Amino acid sequence: MWAGFLSPEQATYGLISGQTLFLTIHILGLGCFAYIVTRRLVPLLRAERDIRFDRPLLRLKKVLQFWFGQWKHPRYGGAGILHILIFAGFLVLAVRAFKVLLLGASENFAIAAPSGNLSHIYEIITDYAATIVFLCMAVAAIRRIVFKPTRYAVPAKYGQGHPVDAIFLLGLIALLMVADSLYEASRAASLVQQGKIFELPAVFSLPWFLKNALATASFSTLWNSYRGAYLLHQLTFYFLLCYRPFGIQFHVETSLFNVFFAKLDRGTVKPVKWGVADEQIDQVKSLGVKKFEDFTWKHMLDFYSCADCGRCSDKCPANAAGRPLSPRFLTIKARDYSFQHYPVFGHSNGNGALIRGIYSEDEIWSCTTCGTCEEECPLLVEYIDKIVDLRRGLIDIGNVPQTLQKPLKALETRGNPYGKLEKKRADWTKAKEFQESCAVKILNRSDSADTLYFVDSITSYDDRMQAIGRATAKILKRAGVSFGILGAAEKDSGHEVRRFGEETLFRALRDENMEAIKASGVRRIVTADPHAFNALKHDYRDLPPVEHISQVMAREVKAGKLEFNPVENRTYVYTYHDPCYLGRHNQIYDDPRRVLDAIPGLKRVEMKRSRDRSFCCGGGGLMLFYEPKEEQRMGVLRVKMAAEAGANVIVTACPYCMVNIEDAIKVAGLEGKMSAIDLTELVEKQLAASTRKTAEIGQSPEKEGVLALVG
Ligand code: SF4
Ligand code: SF4
Repeated sequence: MWAGFLSPEQATYGLISGQTLFLTIHILGLGCFAYIVTRRLVPLLRAERDIRFDRPLLRLKKVLQFWFGQWKHPRYGGAGILHILIFAGFLVLAVRAFKVLLLGASENFAIAAPSGNLSHIYEIITDYAATIVFLCMAVAAIRRIVFKPTRYAVPAKYGQGHPVDAIFLLGLIALLMVADSLYEASRAASLVQQGKIFELPAVFSLPWFLKNALATASFSTLWNSYRGAYLLHQLTFYFLLCYRPFGIQFHVETSLFNVFFAKLDRGTVKPVKWGVADEQIDQVKSLGVKKFEDFTWKHMLDFYSCADCGRCSDKCPANAAGRPLSPRFLTIKARDYSFQHYPVFGHSNGNGALIRGIYSEDEIWSCTTCGTCEEECPLLVEYIDKIVDLRRGLIDIGNVPQTLQKPLKALETRGNPYGKLEKKRADWTKAKEFQESCAVKILNRSDSADTLYFVDSITSYDDRMQAIGRATAKILKRAGVSFGILGAAEKDSGHEVRRFGEETLFRALRDENMEAIKASGVRRIVTADPHAFNALKHDYRDLPPVEHISQVMAREVKAGKLEFNPVENRTYVYTYHDPCYLGRHNQIYDDPRRVLDAIPGLKRVEMKRSRDRSFCCGGGGLMLFYEPKEEQRMGVLRVKMAAEAGANVIVTACPYCMVNIEDAIKVAGLEGKMSAIDLTELVEKQLAASTRKTAEIGQSPEKEGVLALVG
């Protein structure tokens, strides 16, 4: 009997030998798991193509950082640390789990397994790992049952939550730890009773406590608990393995692949169809996502990999504003659809429509593509490409929101969403005082420059935003940059058009702009509009280098070419609002702050949600023409955040942010108490006399009005 105590393979369970029983469990467990996973792969095999095998080294780096290194978890303090501990515990326990599992099949494995001091050290570490995982399960269960973090809640409109399922899974993992520890503790207690006190469980670990509890147990009790614990470990392990693909715990298996195949290029939008050249797009019969199988296989893998942690929705500004959009549920609904239509048992019956099936149109149009959800997700689940693809599907069947039809038509005919004449595109340069101090070249065959200032539609045509154009031009001139604009030859960058799913129109705008830019012969491009910046940088190809004006200013400040007068009104407290397409999508956080901090006497505070957690102002691009259903405006929430931080001047670096924030200040009733200004306007106002040698400042009347607010 003692030999059996040493190896489960040698034990007997009733009339069945341990080896037969455990080999059977292994074969059945692995067979079931293989079958379930194969069935789960069926929709992925029917999905659209996706190219995700490029740049393998970069992908491995992502795995090391985001999967192995759990990089994003600390963003959510307590829960993040809990997850890191559980994950680390699982990694440490993986080798022991396989060793213990295989012992039942063959005693030879135990003989072949490493022994000696190294093995003993590993056993000590695993004792503590099992203890930590067990305690983490208890803490996680208490959090879910007692504290119930709001981000786990499921609003009635999204169906029902699965708290019992979550607790059940936590219980199963805890049971696995107990079974593993009891198996070791029974053996250790028996050894102690026989005077063999080497290789005992680590002090104060779970196996150590259990060993002490069993210290006076009879030999037969120990023998039974040893065999029972081993059997329980095997059964729990395989039950967990086969149960996980039915719910959120499937991410344990899929997350590594999801991170490896994650999107590598920020700011980009996926092609309409992978592998289909631009010129062949017209021949594609159906554009975008209309049915579940139109998603790419990677996007389906996202659905399986979501851990339902709720971080994406917790930080989503659309969700915060009460729009009918919660990214978490975009995923959960698609996963439920997949499980229902591609069941593990029974026939697959996909091909159902998604819009008005599981998604509403409002849900799809409510997203500002701000990227917060993707920034937060610890498993690198993607949202923007899916939403853009769903919009492409809606546009393909002519389903365009009414308020967007006019601006889209105007973009088609006039190259701007306002329907204004092309020849008026450069009118912002014609304000008398401005022209006297800063003549702006229109680039053509006879007039060239080193740098193109790409203005884009909102700054060209919106009376208020034209002040940003003039400030930018003056700064460029002050920095000694030889620059010009395209004037009537410039078209809308198409950035928002593309993200609204109108790919054909985007391509037309892009091609016209590319032709004009190439004809201008410039060697670099500067813009003050983060949306244009993102489009030129990521949606266009083969252009000269592109910079946002904040990058130019930061460099010139560092070089000593731009110097500032001290701020006049010391009661102003400034805060910088990171525009989504400058910050999150392009990682430009420091340059605007460096410029602000170079202004003597400027007092700057940070809002709680800043840098990569910046809160979208709510109206990127065509959102200015779309009236979403919402309980409150995102801009109003943002302005309140600035007030909470103690600021009374919001500085931004994007004309769209300016529209929304200025509007939000009025809606929030903060006029006179709070103001907004673009970074270019502030810089131009503060430029010191020594750097004004090349031109004297002249301000347009509307700009003077704005600057009066910030003193
Ligand atoms: S991109 Fe922004 S608005 Fe859209 S779902 Fe994500 S967090 Fe919400
Ligand atoms: S998509 Fe990511 S952040 Fe959102 S619930 Fe799933 S795992 Fe969490």
